[in-house]
This record gives sequence, structure tokens and C-alpha cells, in this order.
Amino acid sequence: MKDIQTSNSYKQSDIREGRVVPLMEEFYTIQGEGFHTGKAAYFVRIGGCDVGCHWCDVKESWNPDSHPPTPIDAIVTNAVKYSKTIVVTGGEPLTWNMHPLVSALKAKGMQVYVETSGAYKLTGDWDWICLSPKKTAKPLEAYYNAAHELKVIIYNKTTLSGLKNMPRRCTKVANYFYSQNGVNAKK
Ligand code: SF4
Repeated sequence: MKDIQTSNSYKQSDIREGRVVPLMEEFYTIQGEGFHTGKAAYFVRIGGCDVGCHWCDVKESWNPDSHPPTPIDAIVTNAVKYSKTIVVTGGEPLTWNMHPLVSALKAKGMQVYVETSGAYKLTGDWDWICLSPKKTAKPLEAYYNAAHELKVIIYNKTTLSGLKNMPRRCTKVANYFYSQNGVNAKK
């Protein structure tokens, strides 16, 4: 877990234990890529990531100090107004302890999905895990059997050489590859 700046009203322990997270943005939209393309969902984008993909299109998410520490109760209150499906993304949301947020959303009857590089400890009882491995920080072992979907961002022709064994290791995945030019391609 990271040390991030806290306001007077939040303690570092609240962040460490996942009761407060750095919230970058939240919005209701249609999923635009991967297995659930076309389905409506409420997206919760959590700040903080040090995986360091040079082609990252959300670099403004990297610094958790740039995003307000937000109690998970506030996120849940907003999310339930919009959709039964919540997608938690980042940044790298698993930088933080996701157990409390996922549990609170599921207690309200939500289906809770995550998009993650798999580089950090797996926390949270997710309904759907989209694993998007990166060459700069390979997934932890726990993700291979837990992932439901594999999404590889193909930046150039060397991308797959470093990740070529992953489809075979992800035992319950409907293998999807996603290319940088916006085309979904099922393996
Ligand atoms: S893991 Fe995701 S948010 Fe982090 S640097 Fe890579 S693309 Fe960006």
C-alpha cells in the first residue's frame, strides 16, 4: 500500500485498510472494449500506479496525491444510482486494499468488475477480473487462475514475445487480445 497525502479528516490507517481511496473520477458509460463490450456500467477510476507503461494514456492517474482521498461509502452511494455493474479501474486499483470497497458494493447487490495489471496483491471478491498484464511488472501468481479475461495491449511487435505463455496459464479465461488501434480480437 502507498503512503499518500491525507487531509485532516482521514487517517493513514483508513487508506491502508481500504476505507478511503484516491478517487480520480467516476462516470456512467458503455463498456468500449473486451468481453463486456456494449454493456452499461458505472466506472470508478482509482488513482495511483507505478507500473510505468511508457504508452499509458492515463498518466495523470499515476500520482495518488493528485486525487482526493475519498471514503468508499461516498463511492457506493453514487454508484448504486446508476448501474448494477461497477467497473473499478485505474491507475492500478490493486495498489490499494480493495476488500472494503468490493464488499460494500456487493452488499448493495452490485456486480463488481476490476481491470488490473495483476502486479499487486489480489484483494476483493470480484465477480469479473480483467487481467491486463504488462511487461514492466508481470502479474503475481494468484491472478492466473483468478482472471476471467485477458486483455493485452499490443503496442508493438515485441509486446507478445514477453507475454506469450499467459493465455495458457490463465485457465478460465475466454482469451481476448485488444490492440492499441481499438480493435477487439478474440483469440
Ligand atoms: S498499468 Fe495501466 S495505468 Fe498503470 S502505467 Fe500501465 S497502462 Fe497506465
